[in-house]
This record gives sequence, C-alpha cells and structure tokens, in this order.
Amino acid sequence: MSSAQTLNFQAEVKQLLHLMIHSLYSNREIFLRELVSNASDACDKLRFEALENGGLFEDDAELKIRVAYDKAARTLTIADNGIGMNRDEVVTNLGTIAKSGTKEFFGKLTGDQKKDAHLIGQFGVGFYSAFIVADKVTVRTRRAGLAAAEGVKWECSMTGESAGEYTVEPIDKAGRGTEITLHLRDDQDDLLASWKLRSIIQKYSDHILQPIVMKKEQWDEEKQAQVVSDEDETINKANALWARAKSDISDEEYTEFYKHVGHDYEEPLAWTHSKVEGRHEYTQLLYVPGHAPFDMWDRQARHGVKLYVRRVFIMDDAEKLMPLYLRFVRGIVDSSDLPLNVSREILQESKDIDTLRAGCTKKVLGLLEDLAENQKDKYTTFWKEFGQVLKEGVGEDHSNKDKIAGLLRFASTLADTTEETVSLADYIGRMKEGQDKIYYVTADTFNAAKNSPHLEIFRKKGIEVLLLSNRVDEWVVGNLTEFDGKQLASVAKGGLDLGTLEDEAEKASIEKETGELKDLLDKMKGSLGDKVKDVRVTHRLTDSPACLVADEHDMGMNLARMMKAAGQ
Ligand code: ADP
Ligand code: MG
Repeated sequence: MSSAQTLNFQAEVKQLLHLMIHSLYSNREIFLRELVSNASDACDKLRFEALENGGLFEDDAELKIRVAYDKAARTLTIADNGIGMNRDEVVTNLGTIAKSGTKEFFGKLTGDQKKDAHLIGQFGVGFYSAFIVADKVTVRTRRAGLAAAEGVKWECSMTGESAGEYTVEPIDKAGRGTEITLHLRDDQDDLLASWKLRSIIQKYSDHILQPIVMKKEQWDEEKQAQVVSDEDETINKANALWARAKSDISDEEYTEFYKHVGHDYEEPLAWTHSKVEGRHEYTQLLYVPGHAPFDMWDRQARHGVKLYVRRVFIMDDAEKLMPLYLRFVRGIVDSSDLPLNVSREILQESKDIDTLRAGCTKKVLGLLEDLAENQKDKYTTFWKEFGQVLKEGVGEDHSNKDKIAGLLRFASTLADTTEETVSLADYIGRMKEGQDKIYYVTADTFNAAKNSPHLEIFRKKGIEVLLLSNRVDEWVVGNLTEFDGKQLASVAKGGLDLGTLEDEAEKASIEKETGELKDLLDKMKGSLGDKVKDVRVTHRLTDSPACLVADEHDMGMNLARMMKAAGQ
C-alpha cells in the first residue's frame, strides 16, 4: 500500500512555477545557484542548532554539499547534510509561499513575460527555479535529530495530469539532510557533464562557505571515455568570503555572494565591507539592493542582515542589527565578541548589539553619502527605490538626523516635476538674498502641492519651495525643523513673514487695506463663525481670491486631513 498523499499547491505557487519556467529560461543556470544556496543555508542552520544539541551531528560533523549527475537516468542531484525538513516543513516550504503580501504581489503580474520576469526578480526565485530545467523534481529529506524512518519524500511532476499537484510520503533516510533530484527536461542534456556543472558552480557558488564536492573524473585511455572515480573533489573556495581581504575579492564574487545572502535574483547597487577592530571586533559586509523587495512596506517582513559569531551562523533577519529605516539593507555581520549561544532574547538586551547596530548604520549612511557625491546615477536609483523608507529615519534616528537629512531629496518648484532630486544643501545654495528659511508645502497629491494657492507669492518672487506630497513627508517635516542652521517653514502656516524678502511698501499696503476692508473682514468672520480663527488681508496670493492658512503652532492642514482620514 502506498502511503503517498497528493496535495495541491497554493494558487500562487502554481503561478510562480508557470512564470519561472517561461520567463527565466534564458538564464536557466541559476537553478543550481538557488539549490546550492538553500543547501548552504540548511548547513548553517544545523551548525547553529548543534551548538545546543551536539547530537544533531550524528557522527557526521563535516558539513558539505554534493552535486552529482547520472547520464543514463538523465538526472542531477544536489544533496546536503544540513538541517533537513520534517513533513510539516516540507509541506509549508515546498508547497506554499509563506511570505506576507504574496497574494497582492501576484495580483500585479501582467501576463507580459518581460515585465513579469522583472517582477519575479523582486520576489526572489528560490527552490522552484529547479523547474526551469526539470519537469520532475524529487526531494528526499530527513530533519536532523529525527529517526531514519521519519524521512519524507516530496515529488512533483510538471507533465501530464498531475501538474499543479505534488505528493508527500514517509520514507527511510539514513543520513540527515536533503537530497534533491532533478529529472531533466528533454533539451537539457548538456547539463549532464562534469565540466559544465563545475563551471556553473564556480561562476555562481564559489563563495559558499561549505565545500561543494563532486566525484573526480579521469580520462580512461582504454575505454576512451571519462570515468568517475570514488574520490571527492571540492569545486569551490569553501571559505567565508567576508573574512578574506578586500583586495582578494572580485566584484563578481561580491555580487554572487549578495544574491545568496540577499535571496535576490538581481545585482546589488553598492556594498561596504570592513573589519572593525578595537573594543568590539566584527566584520560587516552590507549591501544596498538594486531594487525594493515586494514587501518593503510590510514592517514585519524579513530583515536582511544575518548575524554570525566567529563564522557560525546565528540568525537570519536579525532586526536589531539595522534600524527600521534601513530595512532594505542585506548582508552579514560577523562578531568576534558575542557568545555563541546568543539568543534573540539576549540580543534584545545586549549593549554589544547596540554597538554593532550603530557601527552598521554609520557604514551604510557613509556608503550612501559616497554614492550621492560620487555616483549620482546610482544614488538616483537608490532614491527611487528606497528614498521613502530612508525618510522615516529623520524621526527614528536622532543621533544621525543631520546625516539623514543631508541624504534626502525632494521635488520642488524649480523643476515642478514629481521627481525628487533636490537636496536641502542644493536648496540652500539657491536661496535668494535675504531668504533665511527653507520653504515647503505639503499636500496629499503632487498636483495639489504644485497648484497650491499658497505658492503664488513665492512663484512671483522667484523663491523655490519644496513640494512634499508623499505620505511620509509630513513625518519628515514634523521631525526636521532645521537644516544647516536654516529653519524649515511651511508656506501654508502662520503670518508668512518673508523677512527682508518683503519690502516695506508691501507691508504698509497690507496694513492700509486691512483698515479699509475692516467691515468686510468682520462680516466674513461673523458668517464663518468658529470655522476660522481669523480672516486676514494677504499678499501671498496673486491669482486666487482666498486661501486657508494654518496657525503657526497648529497642525499642518495636510496632516490634519490625514489624521481625520485615519479616524482621529
Ligand atoms: P528562501 O531560500 O528564500 O527561503 P526558497 O524557495 O529557496 O526560498 O526555499 C524555501 C524554503 O525551503 C527555505 O526557506 C527552506 O526552509 C526550505 N528548503 C529549501 N531547500 C532546503 C534544503 N536543502 N534543506 C532544508 N530546507 C530547505
Ligand atoms: Mg533559497
């Protein structure tokens, strides 16, 4: 009696599989990188769990990843002796996509393969990329610590009736860990060659910490063919990339390492790699991705920095290592000082981790400053992808507020487009003689900001005004009151004292008109009742007959609108 159970993939997985096969075909070699990357993660996890429970090693403490092929059967196998999976883990990890926001993400797919291939890059490709080259995949796995009889076999075939389903069944598996067998599609036979697999591994997986081994092959004169020996050969460098000297690491190696730690399919934008010595010793290798992940606005989403202690993996998404406003950063921190048995709870309390975080934050902000100054194109990309997240930092990180403020970019009346290109320093450099404030207007859409009647006087006098219409901008101006000694001022608040920009004649004429129009003003005040505090004559308008102004110390009107919309 077969105890195999047939299960259905989550709808999103089916979509992902379909897309993967059709749109990533031209880059099919990445499947190996993804499977090796997972095998390496599994070894990392085992080594960490074994710190508490040495029994998990089961007399097999040498963690490694094995790649093999079988020409006759037309299969490739990627095996590891890492943590393995139990039945529930198999069903969750290989049958669903557990990331939040997945449904929304798939709702955005267009059906246009080129566009969707790009979207998939943001999503990450992972395990399912096996189906680019295989029409059937068999996974045999056993979690470390479970009995041999508690192994699990997962199988999915893309051909025939059963496409969209997979089976799971219990099996005996002597060694712990995971073995993935790919039954290649018809036209993939070129992968069944040692040199081919080696070259793919060296290209994409050289940086993997654990040895990736293959059986040695030799040319046999008699048989006139390659014969496989019993001896293993390590294909990759098999050391921690971050522990090597910077001068020994090529850009390609940095890039491939990023794809592994960042679970990303695309290239990083920039990175910073340094070893810090002194009271706290640690190495940091931190990357700014080239694009925002699909779940960047989900503050619960996984954070990208992995923590190692003396090369032992401790945890993924160590949120304490990076402030929230830098949640897009990916990479690793390897500490020489933390205890190996450090837990999430200990990290919450640890002063050492605060030091690490401060150090990492400084490095990333330094990297961004460097981009802004020396690689403007890259900074523009960075800003488009992550600018709105970085803005959160002004209120979140007081010790770096000025640095962050210096990195901000805004839209302004100078270009009158939605593009955020103006830095506060640029703005100050263009201030009119006698101007002592940085003026801004906030609104809930760009057009509302741009067409605000409050701008009329500023346009007339040729004074630049920042146009703030992103959600987080209210938060920025609520937390940033000055930059480089210049106050930030809303054009829609207070009596609009343009200082020396306003000439005496203008001030005198306002006074005069206020006197002349007293009756009208009183009448208007009377009929508006307690809807307004005051009705005043102004020169801030050139075209519009009237506008609403908030009092100096009141909440800005856009913020008031947002609060009201939020039911407060
Ligand atoms: P990601 O690596 O980004 O989490 P993947 O699609 O590559 O996404 O893998 C999904 C999950 O399946 C992994 O997070 C892991 O839990 C599990 N997994 C995949 N391969 C292995 C393996 N070789 N050993 C143990 N678990 C694995
Ligand atoms: Mg993966």
